[in-house]
Amino acid sequence: MNKDKVVISIDAGTTGIRTMAFRKNGTVSAKSYSEFSQIYPQPGWVEHNPIEIWNVAKKTIQDVIEQVGIENIVSIGITNQRETTVVWNKDTGKSLYNAIVWQCRRTTPLCNKLSEYQDIVKEKTGLVLDPYFSATKIKWLIDNVDAVKRHLKKGNLLFGTVDSWVIWNLTGGKIHATEPSNASRTLCYNIRDLKYDTELLKIFGLKLEIFPDVKDSNSCFGYTNNKITGKDIPIIGVLGDQQASLFAHGGWEDGVVKNTYGTGLFIMHSTGDKIAKTKNLVSTVAWKVDRKATYAVEGAVFVAGTCIQWLRDNLKIISSAKETESMAKSISFNEGVYFVPALAGLGTPYWDPTARGMIIGITRQTTPSHIARAALESMAYQTKDVIEEIKKSVHGSQFKVLRVDGGATKNNFLMQFQADILGMKIERAALTEATALGAAAISGISSGFWNRKEFLKIRKPDNKFEPAMSKTESNKYYLKWKDAVQRSLEWSTL
Ligand code: ADP
Repeated sequence: MNKDKVVISIDAGTTGIRTMAFRKNGTVSAKSYSEFSQIYPQPGWVEHNPIEIWNVAKKTIQDVIEQVGIENIVSIGITNQRETTVVWNKDTGKSLYNAIVWQCRRTTPLCNKLSEYQDIVKEKTGLVLDPYFSATKIKWLIDNVDAVKRHLKKGNLLFGTVDSWVIWNLTGGKIHATEPSNASRTLCYNIRDLKYDTELLKIFGLKLEIFPDVKDSNSCFGYTNNKITGKDIPIIGVLGDQQASLFAHGGWEDGVVKNTYGTGLFIMHSTGDKIAKTKNLVSTVAWKVDRKATYAVEGAVFVAGTCIQWLRDNLKIISSAKETESMAKSISFNEGVYFVPALAGLGTPYWDPTARGMIIGITRQTTPSHIARAALESMAYQTKDVIEEIKKSVHGSQFKVLRVDGGATKNNFLMQFQADILGMKIERAALTEATALGAAAISGISSGFWNRKEFLKIRKPDNKFEPAMSKTESNKYYLKWKDAVQRSLEWSTL
């Protein structure tokens, strides 16, 4: 049996759950990953089964415990897909409906109905009134699912994002809690007062009693039920996935901007103790540590890696994501083919749920390589859209380096093209699972396993990409992209 002490991180992501054990020197001593089902009941709707989420989480936790030995675990940290909405029975712990996933667009009509409150919502929450966030998802469940309505009336309804759902189950139904990086994504949490907001709750027609308690991100949330883990282990440190990734990149230091290339793209930059006033970005809580909140600006792009999966599963022009790299490199430039991957509308900075995907510039010469290249290029352009927006709205944000992580960063074509289009250096994390590392970091730093300096030393990039394209050329490509985007907007209402 391995004798090293470890911190465990549970990364409850959108496609699967990854549980990892980290040694003090930052190496991974055990890991376990399992996917769960993606449920698409109607176009634009996305659900997960909460029971399956918990079963998969439990299995990966038990796998890792078996590998590292229960006596070696110092603490458990959690990170999670944010905004995804779960409702359950307070007495039995039984979930009452599938989880409505962050990507789900079903509440677009409700958001439109509430549009007069957009400014209040933005002012108080830093967010945009969009179906992406939890509040309208909860309201939809109350209005459309009898069991949810009944439980609310009886006073035994609980709501939580996936962090709360995992904590609840891990503690055997003892703790109903969350922390500000997740609470700040519900649309009901005032990021100035750091409290749920009565006026917002009224706007969305929601009751405070169903919401989880908000603790500091680095607090002890409780202990695992020993029926599940064999021994009580402290759950210390919880962060939403993107905030965890920012934390893993050392995002508490000045001038750090990060991008995670997974299902979507999530670009974040910490603004310290100040809340940036932005129009098209989201302002959010990065974390609240020792009673002190740190804020961040964020750009969320809904479709990035998913678009590569779509090429594989729907168009069937590739058999693996990896192939796109050699396909893109097989042509010397895009030859005018652009792919606007608005498969679920467009997020930052366009915020148009009615935009739809579009491939434009096709000729008789167009091959699958052009389409694959256009899909990869779209990730780079969408990243530039967000970085430009951050530079416009956050005073003094002149970044030199973009720190990156996530599955698609394995693609060297994408990384080089990203450096070229941005005119910035790209620093790729050695560990693609930065999200999991971030949860381990907040947990390990809080439990005394690491101090911040020690942690920064173990965080090393594996590769750097320097811009090599002329400004004139990169501007030319980028302007054409902006033109393409304009043509994809407001499509589903036409
Ligand atoms: P998530 O955590 O959002 O589930 P990951 O960080 O695991 O996502 O990344 C998986 C995504 O990255 C998938 O959507 C996949 O299509 C994409 N991807 C993986 N490898 C590559 C690659 N070599 N080139 C382009 N995209 C890739």
